[in-house]
Amino acid sequence: MNDATLANTGAVVIIGAGLAGWTLAREIRARDPARSVSIICGDAGDFYSKPMLSNALAQGKSAAQLIQTPASAQATKLDVHLRSHVWVEAIDAANHVVQTTGGEVPFGQLVLALGADPVRLPIPGVGHALSVNSWDDYAAFRAKLDAFTNARVAIIGGGLIGSEFANDLALAGHAVSVIDPGQWPVSQLIDAQQGLGLATALGQLGVAFHWGDVVASIEQASDAGAHRVRLASGQEIEADLVLSAVGLRPRTALAELAGLHVQRGVVVNGFGQTSHPDVWALGDCAAYASASAKAAEPRPLPFVLPIMGAAKAIAASLTGTPTAISFGPMKVRVKTPAFPVSVDAV
Ligand SMILES: Cc1cc2nc3c(=O)[nH]c(=O)nc-3n(C[C@H](O)[C@H](O)[C@H](O)COP(=O)(O)OP(=O)(O)OC[C@H]3O[C@@H](n4cnc5c(N)ncnc54)[C@H](O)[C@@H]3O)c2cc1C
Repeated sequence: MNDATLANTGAVVIIGAGLAGWTLAREIRARDPARSVSIICGDAGDFYSKPMLSNALAQGKSAAQLIQTPASAQATKLDVHLRSHVWVEAIDAANHVVQTTGGEVPFGQLVLALGADPVRLPIPGVGHALSVNSWDDYAAFRAKLDAFTNARVAIIGGGLIGSEFANDLALAGHAVSVIDPGQWPVSQLIDAQQGLGLATALGQLGVAFHWGDVVASIEQASDAGAHRVRLASGQEIEADLVLSAVGLRPRTALAELAGLHVQRGVVVNGFGQTSHPDVWALGDCAAYASASAKAAEPRPLPFVLPIMGAAKAIAASLTGTPTAISFGPMKVRVKTPAFPVSVDAV
């Protein structure tokens, strides 16, 4: 970045009211009480901690209790103009305007904080499976789960999110099965020794694992509401609820449509700028070129700590002090109290 006149480039419009959007708004406000900051989001915009979705049961919290600050109060606190339940449909970067379901919104600087979509497996009956990647998803999941005292829950994917939900659900007395093609939980991030320790601890809570297997189909079982999950091995699992936790795909469609550089995510340079100097990105939608010391190409960092670092740096740049994002070593604690482990976020 070489534009030293950034401080005078006008209104900041942020698309997305997740941790990335709200954290950036807070950081800008801390540096500049007068700057016009707007957030446009397709959801309600309530401020909540997404990591708590996978340990809410252990903490005795309902979905409603996970909302830390309602959207309107958060907007007032940060003096942000919030347009909630409004979807951005297109970005015209050259003319500094976005098209939304509520009309056109001009911007001086635009920030994409769009998050990611849960990956859905291309298998028959996948529509029966729920994914949890937002407060709305979690509320829908809990509405179904809370109808049971001992639900049978099949979790597709034994990665970080699948393992956290397995631990939380088992602690709450539900009967959990996990299906994963690997040989131990969180196998892409932890070694066999830790993984087998985690598997043993979760097994002691009653979690049943199906390693080296994949789901072939999901169908409605004959009894009301239950599902039959068929595995490639031929095994069948009866489940009241099926939870899909097989990864996330950064939301890049808007950026692609706008002609921005996209590669595994919306590619940003060391300052958080996309290929258009007045459009920035952070959070789960971004692919950070500067985090690639260990990797060959820009990569997503779908964790909280990178959001904090990126938000601080982008806020500084947007308020007149060009600042590179710095990612130090970042440990993410996997929320599996049965066997706590940490993984490297960067
Ligand atoms: C269950 C779970 C547990 C986790 N636990 C941890 C943990 O322990 N530690 C950790 O570091 N990380 C954890 N993570 C990851 C972390 O929570 C995420 O990296 C972070 O919350 C992502 O925030 P975000 O703002 O980028 O995206 P999101 O929270 O997904 O926000 C995206 C926003 O963009 C809006 N949006 C998208 N498209 C449009 C559009 N076209 N128009 C308008 N608005 C739009 C959405 O409505 C939403 O407001 C966890 C994730 C999950 C799912």
